[in-house]
This record gives sequence, structure tokens and C-alpha cells, in this order.
Amino acid sequence: MKSYSKQEILTWIDRHLADSRLEPEALLRKRWAWIWMVVTCAGVIFSTILFLVLDVLQAWWAGPAFLLGYAIAFPLFRRFRRFDLVMNILFSYFIIVIFFAMLKLGGLKTSLGFVFIGINCAMGSVLAGRIRWTVGIFLLYGMTIVLTGILQPYLETPSFNSPRISTIIFVSLNLWINACMLFLVVLFMKDKNRYERIEAENLRKIDEAKTRLYTNVSHEFRTPLTVISGIAGQMEQQEEKWMKEGPGKIRMQSQILLRLVNQMLDISKIEAGGMYLDLIKGDIYKYIQFLTSSFQSLAESHNIALKFKSGSGPLNMDYDPEKLMQIISNLLSNAIKFTHQGGQIYVEVFHKKEEGKETVNIHVRDTGKGIPQEAVIHIFERFYQVPNNEDETPGTGLGLALTKELVKMMKGQILVRSKVNEGSEFRVCLPVTRGAREDTNHGILLVNPNAVQQVLPVTDPVREHEINAVVSSGKPILLIVEDNNDVVEYMVSILEKHFFIEVASNGEQGFKKALQIVPDIILTDIMMPRMDGYELVDQLKNDVNTDHIPVIVLTARGDFESKLKGLETGADHFLVKPFNERELLLKLNNLLKARRKMQKKLGIVPLNKQQVNNPYRQELLFLERIHKLLDGKLHMENFGINDICSSIGMSRPQFYRKFTALTNISIGRYIRSYRLYKAKVMLETKTSNVTEAALDSGFKNLSHFSTVFREEFGYSPSEINKPVH
Ligand code: ADP
Repeated sequence: MKSYSKQEILTWIDRHLADSRLEPEALLRKRWAWIWMVVTCAGVIFSTILFLVLDVLQAWWAGPAFLLGYAIAFPLFRRFRRFDLVMNILFSYFIIVIFFAMLKLGGLKTSLGFVFIGINCAMGSVLAGRIRWTVGIFLLYGMTIVLTGILQPYLETPSFNSPRISTIIFVSLNLWINACMLFLVVLFMKDKNRYERIEAENLRKIDEAKTRLYTNVSHEFRTPLTVISGIAGQMEQQEEKWMKEGPGKIRMQSQILLRLVNQMLDISKIEAGGMYLDLIKGDIYKYIQFLTSSFQSLAESHNIALKFKSGSGPLNMDYDPEKLMQIISNLLSNAIKFTHQGGQIYVEVFHKKEEGKETVNIHVRDTGKGIPQEAVIHIFERFYQVPNNEDETPGTGLGLALTKELVKMMKGQILVRSKVNEGSEFRVCLPVTRGAREDTNHGILLVNPNAVQQVLPVTDPVREHEINAVVSSGKPILLIVEDNNDVVEYMVSILEKHFFIEVASNGEQGFKKALQIVPDIILTDIMMPRMDGYELVDQLKNDVNTDHIPVIVLTARGDFESKLKGLETGADHFLVKPFNERELLLKLNNLLKARRKMQKKLGIVPLNKQQVNNPYRQELLFLERIHKLLDGKLHMENFGINDICSSIGMSRPQFYRKFTALTNISIGRYIRSYRLYKAKVMLETKTSNVTEAALDSGFKNLSHFSTVFREEFGYSPSEINKPVH
């Protein structure tokens, strides 16, 4: 027979009793209350059989009466949200049955142990978790005992109730009742421990949520602040260029800030009960169509088709235009944010009448990346964002929490269905009422046209081609990895004079570009979609093609932990947003200067390890790898760049660019210098004559060897071993 582990049994019970309406703590109580009922039910079956065997006819009906109670209570207990009520009513019923059984058996002294069953019921009610009911049941039990005591003189003890029978039944009933009590105590201890663990877990979650809040909110604030303060600076310096574009950009960024502050305030306002509905009566179809159309151009700029469909005819009803706008805007901006290019978003509004209840149903469906099943239950929680999300888009995790609160305020419901890689559907269902003042414009004129924009958290994707068009060559190559178009534009405007700029909008793209172009320096944000800044630095520093490139990390998190994390992954510098233009330029230039210094040291054959040492360990190792390859094949004249590339697994252009970045001289020239240096050593240590030294260092043509040797060292090879007079 298959045996089950304790965990398997508990999992089966939890599945059997699952109820999405209950909190975890209530589910835990329900689980143990059910186990308690099962155990006591088994005891009742055992006692009933015992009664039948012993032929205790006067009380035979007590067993079936108990079992009938269980038969009714078990299904109700499972389905009913108030399982505690079912349990308490059942136990009250048992106490009454016991009362009658005691009367039939001749009172307290001859009750065969029935007197204990009542206390068992009262104790069991503790598990249901309602203190009032528990007190009530104890009182009821006490009353039945007192009443039996009062009626005692009038009760007759039946003839079967001999001392032998009485002892057997008393002992056996007492046994299982005691077992139940013990079980209750153990169970309580367990429950307590478990509950404490849940509490600790909850506290940890609150703590995590707080940290998430600080991190996300500071990122969300710092990015617009960087653009605002940067553009303000540019407006002073390049008045002509920025006076026209600047104010609009600053306004856009301040709207993003305003939206954030509003969201946070709205949530706390709803929580404090300080937000009210301001209802109008109008055609909700028209109003939602208007809201959807406000998102059309944003969807188009992301190459997403946005479609609207509504039921036929107008649907006049009460709604609060401002709050409905917030709901639709949050759902639509999320749909745009999480749908890939070429995807579709459908907004459907329709009217439903069911069992006399009228509702309006708003469905926002997208063909985006979807939400993992385990995250779905959390997405309406404050500050929750889907974790380890490869497409992680910056956000605060406030939008849906606010949306849910608003829907609740309207006495509606919001549900979500989602499948990873297929898409998500948010369904809002609001009750229809018709009592508010009529608005002939359906609320459209009541909302500020800019307000819709204000709730748009999606900024345009980075426009790479436009930025690439403004760069010019002949300068160090700088790769900017940043997902916010405005930040990129600002950085390009201050850096284009000094650098040839390339842009990537996320870590993944940034890494690909870095491999392709091997830039001189990289500037990257931390919070980005697909691959964040930390991962990018890690990949760059672990790839032989890019490990030499200095990286500056731009961060919205000024805390020590984040800096440490970045430096651990190998970032060369940190810059906290909002940053100062001069500070950025200074850091970039310092890093480039340090590179140049390093190139001077690394470009010289022979390599002086003492001089180069620590900060360039990685670079040194790379050169040493090349030296080893050359040493092994020094005599082969044709051994060159292609052979080195295939040995270390780099493409020729990548190798060429990396080598030049390290040494500032060409690899061909370097190999020649290296061969000549080796020949010189051979001659100096007198291990070879000139012909041997030339051949062993890969020069077949002797006169060519002499010429290049003189070029390199200023004297001919034959002069080396001549005695100096
Ligand atoms: P945020 O401001 O971070 O977007 P929300 O509360 O609006 O916060 O959303 C919470 C999380 O739910 C998001 O981080 C995202 O992972 C997920 N989410 C919301 N809407 C969608 C959607 N349409 N498709 C996929 N994921 C979504």
C-alpha cells in the first residue's frame, strides 16, 4: 500500500479546503479545524459501534445524531466562507444532543463519560477562532451540566447501566476524548509556531516592500530630475538651441514627477477615507473611446495597434470621469509598456444585465509578455513588480494598487487573466446607476486634456538613428546605454563635442553593440529593461573582447550598497543622478587619461610588469597570452594576427580594436618589435649568432632583419657582441 508523508497529507487537505476568499491565516485555522472534526468524527464512529456491541439501547440514537451533524457540516464547512460558524453551530448542536443523552442515561454520575464530550466540543470551538462563540459554547455546556444536576432527582438510571458496562464505556470514551485533548494542545503549539513564522514573513515582506519603495521611487524621481536640471543648465549655455525645445521637455518631465506624487497621495487619501466620487451621468462608451484615443499616438510610436470596441448605442450611466480616466490610463499605459512592437491592444466596453443586476464591463487585453502565474495574485499589491522579469521595465508598482482601490471605491471589481508570452487581460466590472447630474459632454470637457498625458508613464523609446546622425568621427567612441530618451538626448547634447557617440536602449543591446564596435568608454544606467546595468558590467568585464573598456555607471540609487554592488561587478566609476555636466565630463576624461597612460606602458616591448601591475591586471594577462603564443611560434615567419585571433577566439576587427585600445599601436608593429626584442636577447646572451637569431625570431631575409633591427634599436645586430674598445 502506498504510504503518504505528513506533507503530502497536509497538501491534499489544503487543496481540498482551498478558498481564494480567505487570508492565509484563516486557511491555516480552517485546515486544523477540519482535522479536528475528522478526528472527533472517527471517535464518534468508534463509540457508536461500541454502544451497539454493548447493546446500550437507551442512548443508541446519540451516535447517529452526531453522525448526521457531521454529514451536514462537512460539505458546508468546505464551501462556506464562514467555516467557523459551521463548526460552532455543529458543536452547539452536539452539546444539546449530549444533554439529552445524559438525561436518558440517568444523570451526571451514570452518563458513561458523555459529560466529557461536551467539554471536548467547547475546546474544539477554540480552533474556529471566534472568541465570542467559544465563550458561548462553554456557557451552553455549563448550563447543560447545571440543568442535568437540577433534574438529577427526577432521572432514572436504566437497568443495563451496570457498573461493568459503565466502567467500559466510561474508560473508552475517556480514552479518545483525552487523545483529542492532547491532539488539540500539540496542534495549538504547532499553530502558534506557524503563525509566528507567518507573522515574521509578513514583517519581512513589509520591509522588502519599503526597500522596494525607496529604490523605485528614488529612481523614478532622479531620472526626471536629471533631465530637468541638465536641460536647465543647457538652456543657460546654449540658449539658442535649447530655449525652443527645453521648456517642453522640462514640462514633460515635471508631469512625470507630478504623476508619481499624485499616485502616492491618492493611495494614502483613499486609505484615509478622504477621497470621494464626483459622479456625472453621461455615455460611458463615448468617454472611454475618448480616453482610448488619447493613447493612440503613443501606441503608434511603439508600433502597437490599439483597437476600441463598444456595445451598440449609448450607455448612459453615472461615473466619475477623473477616476475612470486614472483606471483606464493605468491599464492602457501598462499594456503599452509590456507589449512588444507589432503587438495589439483591445479595449472593449459592454453592458450586461444579469439577475436584475446591471453592470458595465471594461476589458483591456494585450498580446504582450504576460504575467507569470505566481505573480498574478500579487500585482495589485502596493509597490509590487514582477520579480526576475527579463523585460523589467522601471516602474513603481503603484499603478495597479491605485487602480484596484479606485475600482473598489466605485463598488466594482477588477480581475486579471494572463499567460506568459501570450498576453494579459484586465477586466473591470462596475455597477450601473443613474442618479447623478447629466453632463452632455460625457465628462470629456471635465478632464484636463493634459491630465491624460500626466498619467502616461511611458516615455518614447530611444530614437537611436536620430542620435547617430548627429555624431561625427575622429573622437573617442562613447557607448551610452540608457532607456530614457530624454536622458540620452541630454547626454548627447553635452558630450557630442568630445565623443563619437553610439546609443543602446537596454543592457542586452548595449552588450551586443559593445562587442560590435568595441568602444573606448561606456556610460550605462542601472535600471533598464531586459538586462540591467549590473549584469551589463558583469558581462563586459567577463568577455575578453570588452574587459578592458572603462565603464561609468549612472545610478539613481546613491546608497552605499548599490555602489558596492556596482564596483564589485567591475564598474570603474559611479555617478549619481541627477549628475552635474562637468562632473560627468571630468570622470570620462579622467578614465580616458588613465587609459592613455596605460597604453604608453603596455605599448612598449619588453613589457615592464612592475610598472604596469595591479589596476591593469586583466590587460596584462591578455598581453601575456599573446606573448606566450608568439614565443611558441617565433621562428615561423608567417605566424601573425590571424593565428592569434583563432587561438584566442576573437574576430580580427575585434582583436585589432582591443589591441589598439590597450597599446595604441598596431598589432603588426607590436609583433615585429617583439620578434626583434627576442633576437636582441639571443644575441646579448650570446646563445646565437646573427643568422641564427634572425631565423629563430622569424626573419628569413637577413638584410631585412638588419634594416628593421637598426630601425628599432638604432644599431645593427652585428654590433651587439663586438667588444667595445
Ligand atoms: P508599475 O508602475 O511598475 O508598472 P503597476 O502596479 O502598474 O506598476 O504594475 C505592477 C506589475 O504588474 C508591473 O511591474 C508588471 O510587471 C505587471 N503588469 C501590469 N500590467 C501588465 C501587463 N499588461 N502585461 C504584463 N505585465 C503587467
